Formats: sequence, structure tokens, C-alpha cells
Amino acid sequence: MMNLTVSNYPLGKINTFKIGGCAKFFAQPSSQKQLLKLLGFAKEKNLPLLVMGKGSNLLLSDKGWDGLVLNISSFFSDLKWEKMHAHCLSGMSLDKLISEAVKKGCSGLEYLSGIPGTVGGAVAMNAGAYDSCIAHSLISVRVLDPATAEVSCVDRDELELGYRTSLVKKNGLIVLSAKFRFSLCDTAKLAAVRKDVLKRRKEKQPLELPNCGSVFKRPHGNYAGTLIEKCSLKGYRCGDVEISSKHANFIVNRGNGKAEDVLRVINHVRRTVYEKFGILLEPEVIFAGEFSQSLYVPDAGLKVKEEKCNES
Ligand SMILES: Cc1cc2nc3c(=O)[nH]c(=O)nc-3n(C[C@H](O)[C@H](O)[C@H](O)COP(=O)(O)OP(=O)(O)OC[C@H]3O[C@@H](n4cnc5c(N)ncnc54)[C@H](O)[C@@H]3O)c2cc1C
Repeated sequence: MMNLTVSNYPLGKINTFKIGGCAKFFAQPSSQKQLLKLLGFAKEKNLPLLVMGKGSNLLLSDKGWDGLVLNISSFFSDLKWEKMHAHCLSGMSLDKLISEAVKKGCSGLEYLSGIPGTVGGAVAMNAGAYDSCIAHSLISVRVLDPATAEVSCVDRDELELGYRTSLVKKNGLIVLSAKFRFSLCDTAKLAAVRKDVLKRRKEKQPLELPNCGSVFKRPHGNYAGTLIEKCSLKGYRCGDVEISSKHANFIVNRGNGKAEDVLRVINHVRRTVYEKFGILLEPEVIFAGEFSQSLYVPDAGLKVKEEKCNES
């Protein structure tokens, strides 16, 4: 097993936030066989598992992950087309799939252009943008249940795909591959949509600095970014971690950001927005590993120690 795993692997290198400590064990399986071997290893050693794709929706603890991290990204990547259907392995870059679909005149996922995750991560999160999401084009996925090592095919309708959630996420399943159905469309039209979406992302999002995408989910009938902005929290900073002045629902890492500082900022936002609007923002970003603070909740609010952070 030693040839499949690396010890003390720095996770900060391989997530878009550039934050996080080391994984006790780290592996990038390139086949289902290797994946099964690694799951056996984790079971034998009683290691907690963390499945990650491109780490574009994760906040990894400064203490790292005291178990096995399975990185299902570039080594688990393949794409085959059958007319208007695409079959791809879960480590495939979602944006690469979309770029190929657009070139072929295959419509369905173009509004998701620029989302920097893998297909597996996008299914787990039911990634979406501009009222479109993975669920709209997905037919089925092949998943592996780490608890039983069983592989099964699950149809879209059984995947409980909701707003940034799925059965995959709820039950800790591992997506091996996914099948998508597209509809035929004019290539030039699709290319124009993709270009416009990418342009808007560049204009509105702080893509020049490490981040994890939208930090909070959209509350009913509102936008997290608008509420945060109305609390004058743009630029609020803890250490090297800052609420983006370009988009208030993004937190950026200005160099040596720490996960604990991200959580401090998240808690400050949750408390401030709750006190002003009575809305408790729910994080979209997934916390992985141990943190020394817990997530702010109003009832426990008075007990939460005020952290020293700089307003700037
Ligand atoms: C600049 C930026 C813009 C973004 N814009 C959007 C957006 O518009 N819309 C949106 O929805 N998201 C957006 N995101 C968030 C993120 O890109 C998506 O959630 C993406 O789908 C996560 O994919 P990933 O491979 O990076 O997953 P990771 O971040 O590695 O993991 C996320 C979750 O998926 C699970 N997971 C990953 N791979 C698998 C697998 N193979 N099997 C089972 N579970 C798996 C992980 O365990 C974890 O729970 C953005 C992020 C950034 C940094």
C-alpha cells in the first residue's frame, strides 16, 4: 500500500483556497481497483476518509486530515461521447467537459462554465449557476459505497439532488463516473453563452486570489452577498483572510491564510447578518478536519468569545 499512499501530504497545495495542513495519508487512485485497495487499507487501519476532487469547495483544517485523503482528480479522468451523451470518469474537470460539449454543439451545461471542480465534486454538490445545475443534464452515476465496497448505478431521480446537496454528499458515496444527456444546439450560440458566463465570472469574482467560491448558500428570496455588503463587511479581515471587496460572498486568502481565520470571518458574518436581518447564513463551503471554534449559532452566541480581528 505504501506505493499508493504518501504520508504527511500538504493539502494546502491542492485546493483553490491554498489553506490547510497535512493529510496523514494521501492517495490519487487511477483506477477502481486502486480505489478498492485504498479503501481496504483505510478500513484496516481505521482511518477516516476524505474524498476530494479539485478542492474548490473545501475548507481544510490547519491541523490537516488525520486519516486518508483520496484525491479523485486528474488521474481519474476520461471522457467518451456517444452522439448527444457523454460518459466521463469523476475526476474529469467539469469545465473541460463543458468546453468539449460546447465545441460539439451539445447544450445543457454551458451556464456552468468556469466552475473549477471535477465532475464528481459537481455531482456531490449539485453544482450550478444562473438557474442551471448538474441535475438538469445528468442521467445517472456509478457510485462506490466505501462502507460496503459495492458499486452501483444510480439514476438522477434517485440522487436526491437539491440546492448544493445530493445523496452522494449525504451518504458519503464516491462517484466513479457520470452519464450526461445534451441537446443539439448551434455551436456559435453555445460558444457565445460560454464566453459571456466566463466574462461575468471574471468581472464579478475575485479570481485573482485563492478562494473557495461562494462561502454561503443563497438564503430564500435573497442573496448572501447583498446581505453581507449591507452589513458593510466587505474588506473585513482576520490575519490574511479577507471578505472580498469585489464580491461579498467570497473570502480570499491574501497569502498566508489560516482555516481558523476563515472560520472566524464566517462566524463574524453569520452573527452580524443574523443580528441585523434575522437571517442565519448557511455555509456552502465544506469544513474538513478539526477546528478549535464551532460554527456560530444564535443561542450559543453569547458564549462565543469575541475574536480580535481587524476591520479594514
Ligand atoms: C472561483 C470559484 C467559483 C465557483 N463557482 C461555483 C458556482 O458557480 N456554482 C457552484 O455550484 N459551485 C461553485 N464553486 C464551488 C466548487 O467549484 C463546486 O462546488 C465544485 O463542484 C466542487 O468540485 P471539486 O471537485 O472541487 O470538489 P471538492 O471541493 O474537492 O469537494 C467538494 C465536495 O464534493 C465531494 N466530492 C468530490 N469529489 C467527489 C467524488 N468523486 N465522489 C464523491 N464525492 C466527491 C467532497 O467529498 C466534498 O464533500 C466555485 C468555486 C470557486 C473556487
